Amino acid sequence: MTSPYPHLLSPLDLGHTTLRNRVIMGSMHTGMEDRAKHIPELAAYFAERAEGGVALSVTGGYAPNRHGWLLPFGSLMTSRKLADKHRLITDAVHEHDGKIALQILHAGRYGYHPFKRAASNIASPITPLGRPKAMSTKEVDQTVDDFAASAKLARRAGYDGVEIMGSEGYLVNQMLTARTNNRTDRWGGSAENRMRFPVEIVERVREAVGDDFIVMYRMSLLDLVDDAQSWDETAELARRIEAAGASIINTGIGWHEARIPTIVTSVPRAAFAWTTAKLKDVVDLPVVASNRINTPETAEQILADGQADLISMARPFLADAEFVRKAEEGRADEINTCIACNQACLDHTFVNKRASCMVNPRACRETELVLLPTKTVKRVAVVGAGPAGLAAASELAHRGHQVELFEEQAEVGGQFRLAMHIPGKEEFRETLRYYTRRLELGGVKLHLGRRAGVEDLAGFDDVIIATGVEPRIPSLPGIDHPKVVDYQQVIRDRVPVGERVAVMGAGGIGFDVSEFLLHDVDESLEHWMERWGISDDEEDRGGLATKVKAPPRRQIHLLQRKTSSLGKGLGKTSGWVHRTTLKDSGVEMVPGVTYDKIDDEGLHITVDDEARVLDVDTIVLCTGQESVRDLAEPLEQAGVSVHVIGGADVAVELDAKRAIKQATELAAAL
Ligand code: NAP
Ligand code: SF4
Repeated sequence: MTSPYPHLLSPLDLGHTTLRNRVIMGSMHTGMEDRAKHIPELAAYFAERAEGGVALSVTGGYAPNRHGWLLPFGSLMTSRKLADKHRLITDAVHEHDGKIALQILHAGRYGYHPFKRAASNIASPITPLGRPKAMSTKEVDQTVDDFAASAKLARRAGYDGVEIMGSEGYLVNQMLTARTNNRTDRWGGSAENRMRFPVEIVERVREAVGDDFIVMYRMSLLDLVDDAQSWDETAELARRIEAAGASIINTGIGWHEARIPTIVTSVPRAAFAWTTAKLKDVVDLPVVASNRINTPETAEQILADGQADLISMARPFLADAEFVRKAEEGRADEINTCIACNQACLDHTFVNKRASCMVNPRACRETELVLLPTKTVKRVAVVGAGPAGLAAASELAHRGHQVELFEEQAEVGGQFRLAMHIPGKEEFRETLRYYTRRLELGGVKLHLGRRAGVEDLAGFDDVIIATGVEPRIPSLPGIDHPKVVDYQQVIRDRVPVGERVAVMGAGGIGFDVSEFLLHDVDESLEHWMERWGISDDEEDRGGLATKVKAPPRRQIHLLQRKTSSLGKGLGKTSGWVHRTTLKDSGVEMVPGVTYDKIDDEGLHITVDDEARVLDVDTIVLCTGQESVRDLAEPLEQAGVSVHVIGGADVAVELDAKRAIKQATELAAAL
């Protein structure tokens, strides 16, 4: 059989060793790295990904000394005792013929602790606890030694290589730019001097580990901040990193403090592969493309186009540990695709919670959430085919239960079917494709367009109520005025919306509806780059250009009663993207609103004790949801074993992450 992804699945000879395919699982800080007691869980996590076919996994970042911690008492690789504990991880990966590299990361001014050291005494705009202390010349020398010492320990621990973290605005990146490095010693003052730090690290690491060890350098190809590297400097650095003895150059885009999105779902797939293609022209080493690559097709295309030699995907392996194996076996339609929502991975990491995955709650809980084949087959009915119902039905069926799924609408999806129509959220479609296929494979009997009643459900051993939510209609004079519509009518039913709009409620859905009313879905890469001010002109430092703002399609007022700034409750790593998008489109965001009434003149509100009339054509209600669970009580009364999950259980903070997790845990328990 010919390989469905010939480039992606072909091996890569690195001289002293061979990678079995072109797939790297990129580094992610899961939270398990910070305490040695979690090493057995990390071993299980990496083992599943190696078993699933990943050629080379990269761990989360380990600091080479405590000044480089991300967090107080965070992950370190500084002693033989620690290194020996990591044997459990490396042995587990090798058992499945995978390879694994330890990432060495010095956080520099991004450290959340008082001992942080950086190139200069310049505060990070996104990190609390003040300015870092500037390293003395001796401390810089020592830090280079510490990188080499960590690499040597990684080798002792059984790792196949190390990755030197030189991107995303961490210490190595900070040393490289005038923005964060104003030193006057041999480590600063000119591009030549600033480059010395990463080059010496790679040289010293290579000396320490010998020739038969992978040394990967992660290079920032676009910093996306002011006063950053020019392309010429980046290219020169790449040549020197190659000469210094690196085996592979991995790539990163944007510092964490950049105000341009680089990985959220609205970033087009493979949006930055063109930067890797430029790097490929500069060096002979294998180069790795990264950022928003989440399907085997996209990965294959980048390789087939000659833009890179390897593909790094990180979050896609949280979503599906078996990604590569499914691609190899021609089962790509069974891949649980990462939809780049960040809700359970990065949003957790940034608040010090263990990472997981919204669409795969088993991620980073491999030893705890286990779905074994059932010993007692039950007949289970699931009512409602939104995210909760889909997850429950498919997991139960795969455990061997006999499952019937009832959905009132003509198609599965619930709130996800609404989400996939929002510009920049097209990926949600993939989750529905995944579940639809999984229902098929699990033999779930699907009843679409059928509102289940008590009489349909009485004969089942268990009934799962996943009937979701309905929009909340606030009580307000004039709420039944023809100008008023709810968000479902706008997104699902496509009711006409005028040019002047008031959106009541500024939660996730208020923001989504505003974007729906302003932008097109499936925007071109060129247009997206213009809108965010990303430049491919080599003269523009950091890859920044002036944003090109298109005239807004509608005039929108986005309103909330709370006095806090709008969008505060949105995801930590994605909320700012939504706020910036709406701001750039001229949306008026009004907090502290009292809604007075609606009439032919428009929406009457009071803000700061002042009455205002918003003369709008349409008022869209995004004022939260109410649970729908009418079936639960009569079924319980009929003696049926009932379980209520998802939005039907709790509508407040209606949340697909909680819904899918709750459904999966229930499926594991039944
Ligand atoms: P939400 O976040 O609870 O927001 C509801 C909004 O309605 C709030 O702004 C609330 O703020 C207002 N509101 C509530 N009751 C009201 C009333 N009686 N009268 C007038 N206004 C009222 O809910 P949502 O926007 O429907 O989103 C639901 C969930 O979906 C989110 O929590 C999130 O988990 C998920 N989601 C997230 C995103 C995202 O992060 N991008 C996108 C879509 C959905 P005030 O009370 O201050 O007016
Ligand atoms: Fe991808 Fe969202 Fe899962 Fe993170 S939580 S891995 S972004 S699907």
